[in-house]
Amino acid sequence: MTGRATDRRTEIAIVGGGLAGGLIALALRRHHPEMQVTLIEAGEALGGNHRWSWFDNDLDAEGAELLAGFRKTHWSGYSVRFPAYRRRFDTGYNSLASPDFDAGLRRDLSQQTIHTKRRVEQLDAGGVTLDDGSRISARTVIDCRDAAPSTHLTGGWQVFMGRHIRTPRLHGIERPIIMDASVDQHAPHGTGGSYRFVYVLPLGADELFVEDTYYADAAMLDRNAVSGRIDRYLDAHGLQGDIIGGETGVLPVITGGNFVRHQEDMRIEGVALAGARGGFVHPLTSYTLPFAVETALAIAKDATLPGEQLAAWLEARARKHWARTGFYRMLGSMLFGAAEPAERYRIFQRFYRLNPGLIERFYAGQSNLADKARILTGKPPVSVFRAIGALAGKGEPLVAEKGNS
Ligand SMILES: Cc1cc2nc3c(=O)[nH]c(=O)nc-3n(C[C@H](O)[C@H](O)[C@H](O)COP(=O)(O)OP(=O)(O)OC[C@H]3O[C@@H](n4cnc5c(N)ncnc54)[C@H](O)[C@@H]3O)c2cc1C
Repeated sequence: MTGRATDRRTEIAIVGGGLAGGLIALALRRHHPEMQVTLIEAGEALGGNHRWSWFDNDLDAEGAELLAGFRKTHWSGYSVRFPAYRRRFDTGYNSLASPDFDAGLRRDLSQQTIHTKRRVEQLDAGGVTLDDGSRISARTVIDCRDAAPSTHLTGGWQVFMGRHIRTPRLHGIERPIIMDASVDQHAPHGTGGSYRFVYVLPLGADELFVEDTYYADAAMLDRNAVSGRIDRYLDAHGLQGDIIGGETGVLPVITGGNFVRHQEDMRIEGVALAGARGGFVHPLTSYTLPFAVETALAIAKDATLPGEQLAAWLEARARKHWARTGFYRMLGSMLFGAAEPAERYRIFQRFYRLNPGLIERFYAGQSNLADKARILTGKPPVSVFRAIGALAGKGEPLVAEKGNS
């Protein structure tokens, strides 16, 4: 059969130009500049409409180097606020906005690599078929599309709305407040309960990003109610300004389930699976950046593997990741199941009193045995009986009802 004029061939086809797909393309470019890589993204821009933040210690030197070329904001520390105390930390913190992700990739990748506004309709081990019917055949196909809902995973949700404002005067906030849980603990309308906090990033002397976040039982974002709460938070702190951007998210917080069955559901024979869809997430914070960086670099080192082998290797890597993040799923079960919604903040209030190194390893998904023991020992902030019940419970399947976000 002869191919049509529009059909092409590439060595590696990456489907989905979000965080994971974009970073894999970048790592391949750095390690194998000669390799033909095609990055196919359905949206207009790479990275969608996100803001990704991370601590300096989330990444090793190689990981930091991969992100070095992106324009981003860096702070030398951050703080947290709880009803009982405020605390400052001196660990560096970073934030990258998706337009800067898009711009960095367009600068560093070859023009032939990036294909935006192209939806992949079908993927298989030999290539992809696009929405215009053209075919790109490939030695290796990597599926980095959005995470799909799963009936095999259980948990709750992290629901948030962020607002980016320009203030008429200098706002005077120097460091990010990554958790201001001194706010009312009311739940978003219609949800069973939540742990609520506000996240504040001083992006410039007259620029603030303020995000209202809930650890909620239901995947429901009531935009009007949450927007009103952001207004009230700004008012209460004497802040105001013109809205220049924003984001919303409803992310799964995984507390349990059968990951192997989940992988079977996601698997397309011979296609490698990465990103959030592949399971490379922090179960409790829903963040993926440290794992997306790590996976991109690992793929780049083994980029000459045939597609089927890369697929099997990544699947095994995701299972290892699942195994090593079990502790965070257990904490998530305690958060959702053991605490009365209005009392959930106590779990974090206690956690943030601990040693800064332990807190950093927690966010990086690298807690050691001593950290885990330390997190679990001492006077528990929630009922032990309810905690045991929560750990034994099955949780709710992580399937959002349509139209809720
Ligand atoms: C608003 C928001 C803020 C967040 N903040 C953080 C944060 O601070 N830190 C953090 O680590 N995580 C954060 N997250 C979690 C976030 O989901 C992940 O970190 C990250 O974006 C997941 O990367 P990914 O590449 O796996 O998926 P995505 O970034 O979702 O990318 C998937 C891409 O695939 C594309 N796609 C889907 N189907 C097709 C198709 N058929 N053909 C072509 N392209 C397709 C989509 O358009 C999308 O661009 C945030 C999430 C949201 C929604």
